[in-house]
Amino acid sequence: MTHSRTGIDCFELNQMVKPLEQWFLENARVLPWREEPLPYYVWISEIMLQQTRVEAVKPYFDRFIRKLGDVEALANATEEEYLKLWEGLGYYNRVRNLHVAAVQIMEEYGGMIPDDYQELLKLKGIGSYTAGAISSIAYGKPEPAVDGNVLRVISRLTGDTSDIMKPQVKRHMEDKLRAVMEETKCNPSTLNQALMELGAMVCVPNGAPHCEECPWQELCVAKKEQLIDQIPVKTKAKKRRIENRTIFIIRQGDTVAIQKRPNKGLLAGLYELPGAEGSLSEQEALEWVKEQGYGPLYIKKLPDSKHIFSHIEWHMTGYLIKIEDTEIKKAPEKHIFVDAVTATEKYAIPSAFLAYASYFKKIDE
Ligand code: SF4
Repeated sequence: MTHSRTGIDCFELNQMVKPLEQWFLENARVLPWREEPLPYYVWISEIMLQQTRVEAVKPYFDRFIRKLGDVEALANATEEEYLKLWEGLGYYNRVRNLHVAAVQIMEEYGGMIPDDYQELLKLKGIGSYTAGAISSIAYGKPEPAVDGNVLRVISRLTGDTSDIMKPQVKRHMEDKLRAVMEETKCNPSTLNQALMELGAMVCVPNGAPHCEECPWQELCVAKKEQLIDQIPVKTKAKKRRIENRTIFIIRQGDTVAIQKRPNKGLLAGLYELPGAEGSLSEQEALEWVKEQGYGPLYIKKLPDSKHIFSHIEWHMTGYLIKIEDTEIKKAPEKHIFVDAVTATEKYAIPSAFLAYASYFKKIDE
């Protein structure tokens, strides 16, 4: 396939390196995974940072590393253990893939995270961005790490109006950056991290970029030609599907029923409050509870809540149900009654249910 020339092809990209490196030297944030860029630390932090902000990741990273400090520990961790460490970060497939890849590394690479880009790509959950980040930051290899941030900043710098959602546009940018690394002999780790940092701090994803702080303000085509509002060009993502759900807090004394979600699909294998499809009326909710085998003492409608996943939105109606202790015998097998402390410490309950978490504790309404 021939490639028609776009902004990035008409721009002398090597000239961006020096001002960017200088800026990074003066402005890099101190981050826990930067202090000691061991391959394992780079890998875990980069996976956590996908779809999650740096500030939110920091405590998760520290806790994860304290509990599962190396590939072997991760490979030997139980599902409950690693899901619990991920609880609240969302996109749980990320940690499932981390675990699968850790086992792969133990079995096929003698416990050593490979330094080769192509080998890294063979690991579960590692795409070109993460492979580039690990091989450059941990091993100093001249490999680019292009994510949405890098696509945005380089597109603006070079005035490139290609659609950054297209895989070939990303591949082309990777090729261009790889060539920059080879030609300028710059430090690949610094260049990749500086690009990420510029995207996070200066040429930001939401709102106006801080061009007055940007090391490229004299070079940037989007700034010169007033194209900042138009670049990056991005095809619209598909609209999210809305699912109505009814959530039940079935409480007996200080305990509340939870259940494990199926091992496949959304929030696979995590624990949840029991629920039903659709937005049930109070009458329908009572019937649902009876169908489960319980004779409810009390029902109360709770405030509605919404949770947004990448492709789905849950619009939730909640009910608090109280049952007598004798009713627990009638509980369906999948319902586990736990108190608030056990629920928090032992079971990974995703943040989609956060709005109803407070009802774990309240005794009287
Ligand atoms: Fe982004 Fe402004 Fe810098 Fe251009 S000058 S790269 S638009 S921050």
